[in-house]
Amino acid sequence: MNAPAVYQNYMGGRWAEPSEGATFENLNPAACHERLGIFPRSGAKDVVAAVAAAAEASKTWRLVPAPKRGEILFCAAQLLTARKEELARDMTREMGKVLEEARGDVQEAIDMTFYMAGEGRRLFGQTTTSELPNKFCMSVRSPIGVCGLITPWNFPMAIPAWKIMPALICGNTVVLKPAEDTPLSAWNLVKILEASGLPPGVVNLVFGYGPEAGAPLVRSPGVGAVSFTGSCEVGRDVAQACAGSFKRLCLEMGGKNVILVMEDANLDLALDGAVWGAFGTAGQRCTASSRIVVHKAVYREFTERLVRRAASLKLGNGLDPSVQVGPLINEAQLRAVEGYVEIGKTEGARLLCGGHRATEGELGRGWFYAPTVFADCEPGMRIAHEEIFGPVVSVIPCNHLDQAIEIANGVLYGLSSSIYTRDVNKAFRAMRDLETGIFYVNAPTIGAETHLPFGGMKQTGNGHREASTAALDFYSEWKSVYIDYSDRLQRAQIDT
Ligand code: NAD
Repeated sequence: MNAPAVYQNYMGGRWAEPSEGATFENLNPAACHERLGIFPRSGAKDVVAAVAAAAEASKTWRLVPAPKRGEILFCAAQLLTARKEELARDMTREMGKVLEEARGDVQEAIDMTFYMAGEGRRLFGQTTTSELPNKFCMSVRSPIGVCGLITPWNFPMAIPAWKIMPALICGNTVVLKPAEDTPLSAWNLVKILEASGLPPGVVNLVFGYGPEAGAPLVRSPGVGAVSFTGSCEVGRDVAQACAGSFKRLCLEMGGKNVILVMEDANLDLALDGAVWGAFGTAGQRCTASSRIVVHKAVYREFTERLVRRAASLKLGNGLDPSVQVGPLINEAQLRAVEGYVEIGKTEGARLLCGGHRATEGELGRGWFYAPTVFADCEPGMRIAHEEIFGPVVSVIPCNHLDQAIEIANGVLYGLSSSIYTRDVNKAFRAMRDLETGIFYVNAPTIGAETHLPFGGMKQTGNGHREASTAALDFYSEWKSVYIDYSDRLQRAQIDT
């Protein structure tokens, strides 16, 4: 086997070795012996250099007309489109998700890049009347400066793109610290931005571990805004680190998303949605359908059919087009899932399928876990309200819609929810009452599109949203402007 390629950080428009020379390996979770690359294990010094490069570039990038910034993003979107297949294959190899889903991940980055390129010709503010004569009022967006972006491994290209593109179109410069499990996709994205003609220092990339490279980025006084996607545990540290200086912070964290299956649901459709929502990306989506609350009238049939479908899913290397479920990202994640399955058994949930590692043949070379269904779960069980982040679904019986909604809302998270019903009244009541930032009718909890706000209520986030024009509100400051052309002193609220 060829020696793995060695990669570098990117700062000030140059590719650079980490200051301490330390590195880490990027491994294929479907075949753990396969080394995909050697990446810099950066530290505080590297972060300081990257932030300095971003701050320097910010002086001129903020003055580039937004439509021109948009043209560069448009070029990046075209390059991403042209190279979609190769980028998706790299992603499957480093992250494990099946190729079709990896293509979707790259497509999400493409969609976001085109979308934000178009925003270059909008970035609308408001013009409005004044309470005083001969006076004009408007609001305009201003860039913040340097944005520190910290991303997880489960959407290795989409999530960095969700953060980088709106930040750039608003006139900010960025330092990206991607997840240590998926550095190659971040490298691929930044290579494309470089080739699209971004001036040096506008995008900077620092690889490394969270506490060593992420923490100094969050704390850097040169960083004006931090956008973090990842676990609640780390998000809490990040929030505390930002609180002291009141740094602007966007947090996108965990979920315990729920599908409600009502007695009048199209069960075939609900099953398709449940299988895709629970086991797509091996359950490692923040929006994964990890709870299914099912009306008692259809509970038995739904559960039996769900188990048959889950048990028949084909596991394997995501590059094989017949494979439906890839591996977990790493050994730690596998151990975490194993731990939760033991907890579920101890709590008295009924384990109907899976519940073990998958090791037959080639699977033994990776971090595979059999799709797992627990039935008869009580809402108070830990497997029914804590995020597991693996191919494990908890099925909970209910008697009516009100109870289903109460169960659904009885968790700390509030990312995504859905209802399967043919009754428009039930659908609208669920839409109104479910405490999640995303809601679907007759579809699973996954499938967000880039032109709508993305994010969650409660402990999933801190009130900001990604994607859509909502992202522009995070990456820019509003400036209210009053222009008085009366040639005399006019006093608002006083000269009535
Ligand atoms: P994680 O919190 O372990 O890591 C996320 C990122 O934070 C990584 O880049 C990591 O290196 C970095 N990090 C770790 N410690 C840090 C520190 N002390 N300071 C600064 N940065 C640090 O999360 P993960 O395991 O990569 O991702 C899985 C989690 O992400 C799940 O909880 C999932 O729900 C969540 N997620 C949420 C969304 C969303 O939009 N709500 C989307 C995808 C994933």
